[in-house]
Amino acid sequence: MRRLRRARIVATLGPASSSPEMIRTLFESGVDVFRLNFSHGSHEDHRARFDAIRALEAEVNHPIAILQDLQGPKIRLGAVSGGKMVLEKGQIVRMVLGKDTSEPNTLALPHKEIFDALMPGHHLLIDDGKVRVKVVRMIDQGVEVEVINGGPVTDRKGVNLPDTLLDLSPITEKDRADLAFGLELGVDWVAFSFVQRPADLIEAHGLVGGRAGVMAKIEKPSALKHFDELVRLADAIMVARGDLGVEIPPEDVPGAQKDLVRACRMAGKPVIIATQMLESMITAPTPTRAEASDVATAIYDGADAVMLSAESASGQYPVEAVEIMDHIIGRTERHHSYPPLIHALHPAVEPHPQHLISAAAADVASSIGAAGVVAFTQSGTSSMRIARQRPSVPILSITPSIQTARRLALLWGTDTVQSNGGGSYDEMVEQAIHHARDTGFAQPGETIVIVSGIPFGMAGSTNNLRIVTV
Ligand code: PGA
Ligand code: MN
Repeated sequence: MRRLRRARIVATLGPASSSPEMIRTLFESGVDVFRLNFSHGSHEDHRARFDAIRALEAEVNHPIAILQDLQGPKIRLGAVSGGKMVLEKGQIVRMVLGKDTSEPNTLALPHKEIFDALMPGHHLLIDDGKVRVKVVRMIDQGVEVEVINGGPVTDRKGVNLPDTLLDLSPITEKDRADLAFGLELGVDWVAFSFVQRPADLIEAHGLVGGRAGVMAKIEKPSALKHFDELVRLADAIMVARGDLGVEIPPEDVPGAQKDLVRACRMAGKPVIIATQMLESMITAPTPTRAEASDVATAIYDGADAVMLSAESASGQYPVEAVEIMDHIIGRTERHHSYPPLIHALHPAVEPHPQHLISAAAADVASSIGAAGVVAFTQSGTSSMRIARQRPSVPILSITPSIQTARRLALLWGTDTVQSNGGGSYDEMVEQAIHHARDTGFAQPGETIVIVSGIPFGMAGSTNNLRIVTV
């Protein structure tokens, strides 16, 4: 079983998509990575989804990645007195520390760290930015704010703080418990929400301890400010346009997306474009033209993966959403404008033998019109270095590590089989030919370019490039 497209599809599971039959249909329609969203659902819900994915994987004998997405410090109002308050533009309102308040003209906010960090001039965006207020004055136990955009506010609505650098780790107590649960299950990737600075990712790596890939969700202005360093520290990046588009003006999101994809491609780190890609398909069986264009833009930019959130988790048309995403990706990758656009970027190759060999393999395979590159890899680094060149031919990764095989399901242009490299050099070549034929990657008489390292099974040993005819 092989996908005939390069970019990958990430789909979020939820109430609309959790039966084993539905998970199978979504996989068959094109899903490469399943996302378990720990902002919703119980551990038992997630365990059932996890087990269904692993059972499917064993049955279809094709590595599937599971991404655990941690909620992070999602900030919410407390209870609103009377259940609802309508804020008028220009009105002065108080915000005080607490779960609720009976004071008139006052909103409760049960997060002490916020009051420690708020300064006059900072904005608070309530309910995905529908209501916007600005701090005018510090008061005892709270702040006074002026309403900039009015509207109704109700109990426990979300609050975004674009201007405020919170002196707190984005990894909450809930996240720690969820992470321990996810690592125990054996998830392949963990996404950390509302990362603000490099130290957050150092902490994330400490907690994950190499048991999964660490993904940073970029959804804060402070993360944009540090993104070169965050890209260097993360194993993968998610451009989390939902919260990002609340915290920065919507007109700045496309440019941020371009910058982030570019930085990730230069670094050879997988990057996912997320949120609202096919939003209208939550309730309709077909996307808008603008949505089709948005998915295509991510593909032309060279993103590794595009993601479905509510479309697949709770919408009415999860399968249709995956099918349409698959069609848009396929059409875009075959369009004549795709090669020049994707190759407009030339990542520099680090002067290390393994990186130079990997990059050379991509070039050689493209130049001689090979069926593809076959890469033996332990950690997946060689595959990432090959994929970074965005070769015009597909990549087949062979790894003895099932963890690596699953993690690579997120990577652009790569199919992966789990297999031992064999003992000798000749056995390795035989294996490459066998798997290339077996997966339909190359037909007899076609050429493949093999990248390997001797001794086998050692990360960082890539030092060999071989051209063979199948
Ligand atoms: P979320 O993250 O769906 O967990 O909020 C993605 C985003 O903000 O875009
Ligand atoms: Mn978010």
